[in-house]
Amino acid sequence: MRLRDALALLVAAGLASCGRGQDGVVKMRGFTPNTGLQKDTREIRAYCPNCGMQVEVGAERCPDQRHCKARIDWDEKYRCAFCGGTGKCRACYLMEKEGGQCFNCKGKGFLPFRGRTPQCPDCKGSKVCTVCKGSQNCDYCGGEKTVALATVRERARKPSEGKEEGVEEKKPAEKKPEEAKPAEEKKPEEKKAEEKKPEEAKPAEEKK
Ligand SMILES: [Zn+2]
Ligand SMILES: [Zn+2]
Ligand SMILES: [Zn+2]
Ligand SMILES: [Zn+2]
Repeated sequence: MRLRDALALLVAAGLASCGRGQDGVVKMRGFTPNTGLQKDTREIRAYCPNCGMQVEVGAERCPDQRHCKARIDWDEKYRCAFCGGTGKCRACYLMEKEGGQCFNCKGKGFLPFRGRTPQCPDCKGSKVCTVCKGSQNCDYCGGEKTVALATVRERARKPSEGKEEGVEEKKPAEKKPEEAKPAEEKKPEEKKAEEKKPEEAKPAEEKK
């Protein structure tokens, strides 16, 4: 997976530089929506290269002054992981949207249906990819392939922001207090299916 490769590279870069302060670890996670109906789960977080504690982007030292005290350096810019450093719109790429056109209506803006032409629910009639607005550039880096430190800082989730609305926090699917219930209420297979809930973003759901 490209996204994972990008992360590995960033981590490796963080580890490789000793001597001066180590480079802060910047992780770009989540998924670019493929359509206008999908949720944007992208986020950036930064971590201390020494102890792994979440830090604010640009922090000069690890906030853990009791145990870590690491000095942290930051690069001027970071490879955009949301387009894999290509600068191209991820949604266009994944959905094979031709020329930045809306995939759902094939650039028509409407969907012919029993002789009528209701507006396309994805592009809302704009005819183009709602993510890049038809430019075919990655909407996150604007086609630059990298994201400047200032932008990373601005967009990164602050450590204090915690997990609320944590777009991509991998919570195990809400555990119900099953202990309280009679055990035979669920068959084993059903239980398994429930545990296997997809953790990652789901593909676009068609509007009903
Ligand atoms: Zn640290
Ligand atoms: Zn696009
Ligand atoms: Zn459309
Ligand atoms: Zn990008």
